[in-house]
Amino acid sequence: MRLKLLVLGIAAAVALGGCQKVTKEQGTKAFYKEVHLYFNNLNNEAQFRKDEMRKNDAKLGLITPTGSIYSTFVFDENAFVVKNYKCKTCETKLLLTSPGNEYLCPSCGHCPYVTHAAGFNRKESPCKICIGTDGKPKEPNAALITQEAMAKDAQALPMFEFLPGKDNPNATMAATVRYVRRQWAYDSRGTVDISQRVIEKASVDPSWLPMMAAEGQVGRAPGFHRPDATFVGQIDFEFRGGELTIKTRYQEEPVRPWKDLKGNQ
Ligand SMILES: [Zn+2]
Ligand SMILES: [Zn+2]
Repeated sequence: MRLKLLVLGIAAAVALGGCQKVTKEQGTKAFYKEVHLYFNNLNNEAQFRKDEMRKNDAKLGLITPTGSIYSTFVFDENAFVVKNYKCKTCETKLLLTSPGNEYLCPSCGHCPYVTHAAGFNRKESPCKICIGTDGKPKEPNAALITQEAMAKDAQALPMFEFLPGKDNPNATMAATVRYVRRQWAYDSRGTVDISQRVIEKASVDPSWLPMMAAEGQVGRAPGFHRPDATFVGQIDFEFRGGELTIKTRYQEEPVRPWKDLKGNQ
């Protein structure tokens, strides 16, 4: 992997270092590519740790702390994160990693993007406005969660943003990159509790699911990595001659976990 990265880096350097002028589009694309490689590299390391956990000695209980926790990273140059979004129901300020996927507010348990009519039952969560007939939280109206709509009452921050005056592809480019880091922790007793019906309906291969043997179901022995925490991070990168350098790494902000539907029934 490292060798591949190096080769790609050299190729990019040759492409950008030559006397031929690079268009802004080409330069920006090369910049994106390097940022993706940076995060892919971290994700590959995470996958390696996860694979290590599956080895025979791990099954014997010799679990190393390095393998028991790992992080995965999400970066998408076309996406954005939202800071200080005020829940329309309880006004708690939220940090949103991906507005479309976040349905219920961690504070009040209602959809944070829609205003509930006066006199609604605050304690009933999720209520009929928030939940669909299939029993799942309703996906918010697409128009409510666009970057423009979010920017009206919060900070909608792009995951890739050029620093002022730093978008010239024939000089040093620099940008602020925002990413989502998910931390996964190995729970050696963790099992997945899903019904036979769900397995059939979703056509899940049950032999991959960590389940309690006592229930008489097929599946792997207990133990899997569960999402432990989510953070939004920010790095200022410089990009010159195909070379990516970190200029400033900011402290990550924790994202509050979203409401667990099961725990509230
Ligand atoms: Zn709320
Ligand atoms: Zn509601």
